[in-house]
Parts: sequence; structure tokens; C-alpha cells
Amino acid sequence: MLPRYRNILIALFILFALAFLGLVALFHNRADDYAVGEAKNQALNALLVHRAIHSYVTKIQRPEIYRLQGEGKLYPDYFSPLVMSFTFISRNIKDLLNLEREKHALEPIYFKLASENPRNPVNQADAVEVELLRRMNTNELKEYQKVVELEGQQWLYLAVPIGRSNKGCMKCHGDPADAPADMVAMYGDKAGFHESPDAIRALISIRVSLANIVKAGDQMAWTLSGFTFVVLSGIYLLLAFLIRRIDTQERKILSHNIELARLSMTDMLTGVYNRVGLQQHGVEIMKRADRFHHPVAVLLLDLDHFKQINDQHGHAVGDTVLARFADTIKTNLRGSDIFGRWGGEEFLVISPHLNLGEAMKMAEKLRHAIENTEFSNAIHLTTSVGVSEYQPGETDAALFARADQALYRAKSAGRNRVAGETNAD
Ligand code: GH3
Ligand code: MG
Ligand code: MG
Repeated sequence: MLPRYRNILIALFILFALAFLGLVALFHNRADDYAVGEAKNQALNALLVHRAIHSYVTKIQRPEIYRLQGEGKLYPDYFSPLVMSFTFISRNIKDLLNLEREKHALEPIYFKLASENPRNPVNQADAVEVELLRRMNTNELKEYQKVVELEGQQWLYLAVPIGRSNKGCMKCHGDPADAPADMVAMYGDKAGFHESPDAIRALISIRVSLANIVKAGDQMAWTLSGFTFVVLSGIYLLLAFLIRRIDTQERKILSHNIELARLSMTDMLTGVYNRVGLQQHGVEIMKRADRFHHPVAVLLLDLDHFKQINDQHGHAVGDTVLARFADTIKTNLRGSDIFGRWGGEEFLVISPHLNLGEAMKMAEKLRHAIENTEFSNAIHLTTSVGVSEYQPGETDAALFARADQALYRAKSAGRNRVAGETNAD
């Protein structure tokens, strides 16, 4: 796979993994918020039920008792918490409610009216409640809500004040002398009396278990996480599949391009470089020579009287001879030499690190190799070679032209020989 696409796939994978982790965290966060909200709803419901009971007792039940007392149908000091104390009534209703909740496999709701000076000791405020009451009385705190850890599990704890005492409250919470005699007989004349009129004498403590709600929220969060995983994996796999396809196609195009580039520099008949390939490599070698200050030599080889081969044996044999000629030269060259067909029956060798003298020796070796080669149909051939050495900074055309002039001299001097460039070139 191409590095570009592999990097895209890795980046996408990291992106998707981070998105997944982010969403899982978000779902769980939302689930926790949901659990607290749901618990708060339950606590508020309990509070509203309590307030309704309070209203019923103070607005309906007590006036009815006082009416009956006024009409002499009940004796004047009649008092029973069963019908007159909303604290007593709401506590009992809370117990009955929790029994009903239990039947429906619902957890109980902890509910308490807490006071520092309760008539019934079960309503005694604990240390936390005492502190909350103090802050509510100084208007520092309106309402208190906190997630607490108790009995090995989590709860939402809510504390709200009951209204400040008023004149009606003081009948039973002010001076024991004003209170119903039955009540004093029942609770004594200490607890619950001598309250200050405008004070918040109690708060309502409500505790709702978060265990089951959190569990339900968590389950939902995991379900959503699973769903998200499937969707994100699906999208990722689809993208990976498409990217792989693009990669395969691009690699195919790339290898075709490489093959086309190779073919554009190759001579079809002999399989060696053509003129384009020779020029490209020649320019590279000359640049390197300029940079590292080493010599470069060029050998231009031309088959002697090649036209006669075509004339005597036909063009096809001529072709075979050309290919064989190229093979013979190639096997006599070094790995660093560049060899190609300059055109027709002319071939060129570019030899880095050789000066003119060394190149002429090599040319002589090549000439000799050709002279000793038997081509097809017992054909023997010779070659003439022109040699030139690169002058730093000159063009490839100038270098090749000097080799061509040397070749011309080799031909003129009778062929089958090597000629080096002269000053006149
Ligand atoms: P000289 O010694 O002066 O170089 O003589 P020559 O006959 O080799 O040179 P000339 O330039 O007169 O002829 C070259 C011949 O090479 C002519 C041409 O038909 C032949 N030739 C060029 N390309 C090809 C080819 O690809 N295949 C074949 N079979 N012949 C070719
Ligand atoms: Mg020629
Ligand atoms: Mg020739």
C-alpha cells in the first residue's frame, strides 16, 4: 500500500477510535446526569406529596377538629397526632408508601422531617441536618442537593426547609400553656415548645437511591456505545475498502507509468537505451562530474559497411546483427557505463571516471571484441570508434559532436579503428 494511503488509514483509525471513546464518555456522562435528574424527580414527587398532606391536615383536617370542638362535639383539649400532626401522618404515609414501593420492587425513599427541637425524638436532626438548618435560617442556603455515598451505595440527597413558623404554628410550638392539654400530656411540656415565631424549625430530608437508576442509565449508555461501535466500524471498513481500491488502481497506474518511462528510453530492437535514455543519463553523469570533478568519456561506435549486410542478407538479418552487436558491447562494459543506440547502426557508450586515454583503450578492447565475434550466417563485422572526453561545463551536444568528428576520422582512415578527439575537434 502507498505510504500516503496507509497514513490516511492510520489517521482515520485514530480519529474513529477517539470519536468512539469520546462518545462512550459522553453517553456515560449523560447517563449519570439522567440518573441524578430522575432521582431528583422522585424526590420532588415525595416532597409534593408531603406538601399536599401538610395542606390537607392544616387546611381541612384541623379546622374540622376545631369546628367540632367549637360545637362541643369534641372535648376542648382533644388532640391526637393520628389526625392532627402532619409530621406524624406524613411519616406514616411514607412508611406505607415504601411498603407499596417494595411490592413493585422499587427501592424505598428515605424521608424525614428533621428538627433540632422535635416533639418526637425520631425527628431529631443529625449533625448534617443541624448545620443545614443553621444555614437555612440565616438565608445562606435555600435548598441543598448532593450525591452522597452511604451504606455502600450512591444516593441523591435533597434537603428543603419547611416554611417559617407563623402564628398558627405557635399554638402547639410556643407556650405549652396554649397547647392542647392532651398533647402536653402525650409529649410533655418541653420538647417542641418555646420556638421562636419566624424561624425555620425543620427541614425535609429526602434520600433517593441512585443504584438502580444508574444501572439503567449505564445499560442504556453501553447499548448506545455498542451501536456506535458497529456504525463507526462499518463506516471505517467501508472507507478502508474504498481507499484500498483507490490504492490498488493508483499503484497500477504508477507501475504502468514506470513501464512507459522505461519504454520511452529503450530501443525496441536491441533492448538498450535509445537516444532519449542516453541523453537523460548523459546529462546526469555530466552534472555529477561537474560536482565531484571526475572525468567522463564518450565512445561513438559505428558498424563498418553495415549497409552491405542488409543488401546481401536482408533487413531481418541486419536486425539480428544489430541486436547481437549491442549484446557483445554490453558484455564488455562495466556496470557504471551507460550504453545505448544513438540511431541506425551507431551506438554510444558514456563512461564515467574514464579520461580520453583510458577510454581509447576501452574502445580498442570493444573494437577487438566485435572483430572477433561471429554474427549469424558466418558474418564478420568491424566497427569504428570515435572517442571524446567531457570538458567541465560543456553541453552534451558538444561532447557528442566531438566524438562524432573523431569517428569520422576513424572512418576516413580506413575503418576498423579507434580515433580520439583532437584539438581541431
Ligand atoms: P560506413 O562504414 O560508412 O558506416 O557504412 P555503412 O554502410 O555502415 O553506413 P551507411 O550510413 O551508408 O548505412 C547504414 C545502414 O544502416 C543504412 C540503413 O539501412 C541501415 N540501418 C539503419 N537502421 C537499421 C535497422 O534498424 N535495421 C537494419 N536492418 N538496418 C538499418
Ligand atoms: Mg552510420
Ligand atoms: Mg556504418
